[in-house]
Formats: sequence, structure tokens, C-alpha cells
Amino acid sequence: MPDKLTVYNPATGEVIKSIPQQSAKEVEEAIERSHQAFKTWSKTSASERASLLKKWYELIVEHKDELGKLITAENGKPYQEAVGEVLYGAGYIEWFAEEAKRVYGRTVPAPTTGKRIVVTRQAVGPVAAITPWNFPNAMITRKAAPALAAGCTFIIKPAPDTPLSALELARLAYEAGIPKDVLQVVNGDGEEIGNVFTSSPKIRKITFTGSTPVGKILMKNSAETVKHVSMELGGHAPLIVDEDANLDLAVEQAMVSKYRNAGQTCVCANRLIVHESVKDEFAKKLSEQAAKLKVGNGLEEGVNVGPIINKKGFEKIVSQIDDAVEKGAKVLVGGSYDRNDDKGCYFVHPTVLGDVDTSMNIMHEETFGPVAPIISYTDIDEAIELANDTPFGLAAYFFTENYRRGIYISENLDYGIIGWNDGGPSAVQAPFGGMKESGVGREGGSEGIEPYLETKYMSIGL
Ligand code: ADP
Repeated sequence: MPDKLTVYNPATGEVIKSIPQQSAKEVEEAIERSHQAFKTWSKTSASERASLLKKWYELIVEHKDELGKLITAENGKPYQEAVGEVLYGAGYIEWFAEEAKRVYGRTVPAPTTGKRIVVTRQAVGPVAAITPWNFPNAMITRKAAPALAAGCTFIIKPAPDTPLSALELARLAYEAGIPKDVLQVVNGDGEEIGNVFTSSPKIRKITFTGSTPVGKILMKNSAETVKHVSMELGGHAPLIVDEDANLDLAVEQAMVSKYRNAGQTCVCANRLIVHESVKDEFAKKLSEQAAKLKVGNGLEEGVNVGPIINKKGFEKIVSQIDDAVEKGAKVLVGGSYDRNDDKGCYFVHPTVLGDVDTSMNIMHEETFGPVAPIISYTDIDEAIELANDTPFGLAAYFFTENYRRGIYISENLDYGIIGWNDGGPSAVQAPFGGMKESGVGREGGSEGIEPYLETKYMSIGL
């Protein structure tokens, strides 16, 4: 493994920076430091940890513009979206600074008069996190903040495409007074570092956001030392537009859900399932809006859709479009791309596909790109069946003004996150996470600190 990791700007192909990579031995040393630091950090008071987190939050908000620029440079998303991510990410730190103080225990009536039962919560231990490139800031803070709040020490291995945001976050954490061994960043090969994490008995929890295949490997490898695991994995979100939907709202929210971050989020609408009676009108309105989006370097004013992160991601998107078109889909807008293999820059124009059917790969695989395939239905049960016909269960959206129908749809969708007339349901106050092969555990909300806590029960004999 080279000792340097070079980070490129996906919009220009330029080198942003080369940074040191850590060897397996160095990662082991980081784990040892984390293990030692846990002894003192886990014994600090909740209000002390809350104050440090609050300070970290304030510094991030203060530096939101620089952090946003860095995200745009290494991830490609438009600058305003990047700043939005920074504030959203910081929100988790503020939220868990507050939640740190609300980790309550219980006393329970004992079976006999001669006993007392006391239940307490304590930090799970040193935690290792592996995070993806699509939200280089928020995917770290929604893990690090609850871990630190609970009293855990924390090591992050960010995605190789976007390590600079992670290093900046850590720098600000140190400036806030969080000890260096409590929060560490290691960079290097995912598989190698993942194996060091999972094989170490000193790491008590693995928290991961990324693809389902890698999540499965980490879960299997974590079994050896029976670690706690939290997994935020792939999605394949359906977006149902029912016959009595407010179509303008559905289009507006579908735009938010589908095209932000160039479609590279695990909760992006991946399948638009639209009632036959409104399909043409919805497709027309969506195509008109998609055609207005400006594609380009996210640092340029007015750009809405940045580059695709890398060649692998780009080729997957293009192969899904080609496959759909070969099998009879119609390109209503987009379908084109700018590719520069020499520079390693890839842009896909916002695309809407009509006449999609279930024989097409796009109906079964996560796209991670700005492509909206529209399939129609006549009966709501058919739409629900189609929506649930996937191993994934992360986010689902539906649009209806009819509350009976809305309750029926929401109760029958096998998804962890449901947006009813809402294309952007993520919020620090709410538990984010998936069912089925989309993952294990929840991040955010009052649930978000739970995965970093152990339960201890003490029976006191009198
Ligand atoms: P994506 O395809 O979106 O990059 P991955 O699941 O491959 O999703 O990557 C998410 C994170 O997982 C990155 O930080 C990456 O370095 C890491 N990773 C990739 N392969 C492995 C592995 N075998 N073990 C542990 N981590 C890995």
C-alpha cells in the first residue's frame, strides 16, 4: 500500500492534496490509544462531554463556508448543498450534546423485599467507524457525536475519496478541547483497515455507512469478537404518486429526493411508481423541471448537479440507462453525459425515463445517479407490492392528499423511513435507518445514542 493517499477534485481532475495513509500497525496503535483513552473519557461527566460537543458544534458552524468548499472540492456536490450538509452534520453534534445529559437508568420493583434492582447505562467501549464519500461530513458526525456523548472513544476511517473533510472535522474537535486519542482519523485501504478493526477485541463496536456487500463482510467479521454493529447500507427507494396526489408538490419533492448530490444518496428516490391516470402529466412536469437543472462544477454559481464521484459510479449509471433503453424505456429528458477519462471527470445530465418495466436493471439495483425511471400502476396494492419487492428497506416516499389511503400505504411499506408528501425526511431529531438488507440500527433522534450504550443491571441484596 502506498504511504500517501491522493485526493482528487471529481469536477476538474485536479489534485487537491496528498495525505499520509496509515499502515495496519499504525491502526493497531490507534486502537490501543483509543482503548487507553476510554478509561478516562468514559468516566467524565455527561455535562463535561456535552460542553465539549457544544463547542465543537459552534466551531463547525463558524467554519461552515470553508468546510463546505472542501466538501465541494472532494465530493463534487454544489457549494450551497455542501454548506447545507455541514449545518445538518453539525446539528447531530448539537443534538447529541443535549442527549448526553439524558441517558437515564431505571429502578425496578424486585421480586422480594430483600432486594433492589437498579439498571444503569454505560458506554459500549472504543468504537470504529467506516464512512462513505457521499456525505463526507454528516455521515461522520451522526456517528461520532452519539459515541462521544455516550462516553465512547472513536476512530474514523473515512472514504478514500473524501478524507479531507474528516481531517478538518477532527481538527476542529481538537480545537474545541476533545482529546486527540478520544477522536482519531485513520486513512488507508478499506479492506485492510476494516480487518484490523473487526479483528481487534479492543474495538467493541463497528458503525458503518456504505454498500450492503461491505456491510455484510463487516458483520460477519465482527462476529469473531461479538461486537455491537450499526449498519446503514444500500437503498432502492420507491416514490409512489397516487391518483389523488398534489402533482406539483409531488414533482417538487421528487426533484429534491432524486437530484440532490447528483442522485448519490442512499435515500434518493430510485423508482418512481406513478398512477396510470396521472403518469403523463407527472412525467411532463418532472421532465420540465429536470431540464432546468444546471450541471457542472459545484463551485460555480447556479450549478445544481455536480460530477459523479468516480468512473465506477459513472459506468454503473450509464449501464442502467443503456439497459433500460435497450429494453424499451423512453428517454424523456437527459440520457446524455460528459465523460473525460483522462482527467477522471464524469457528469450525467438529469434524466427521466418513461415506459419503464420490471425487466430493467434500474428497477432492481440502486442507481446512485441522477436518473428517474417512471413505472405506472393502476391499483394501489400493485404499487405497494412493487415498492416492497426489493431486499432493501431504507426510505420510501408517497404522495396522496387522501389520509385514509395515506395511512394504508404507510402501514404497508416495509421501510424504516417514510416520506408522506415529503421528499426530504432526514432530520437530526428523527431515527434514520433501514429494514431488511438496508441495515441494522438507527442514527439520530433519541434512538441514536442507544447503539453506543450497554445496559448493566445490578441486583442489590439487603
Ligand atoms: P461505495 O461503493 O459507495 O464506495 P463502499 O461500501 O465500497 O461504498 O465504501 C464505503 C466505505 O467502506 C469506504 O470508507 C470504503 O473505503 C470502505 N470499504 C470498502 N471495502 C471495504 C472492506 N472490505 N472492509 C471495510 N471497509 C471497506
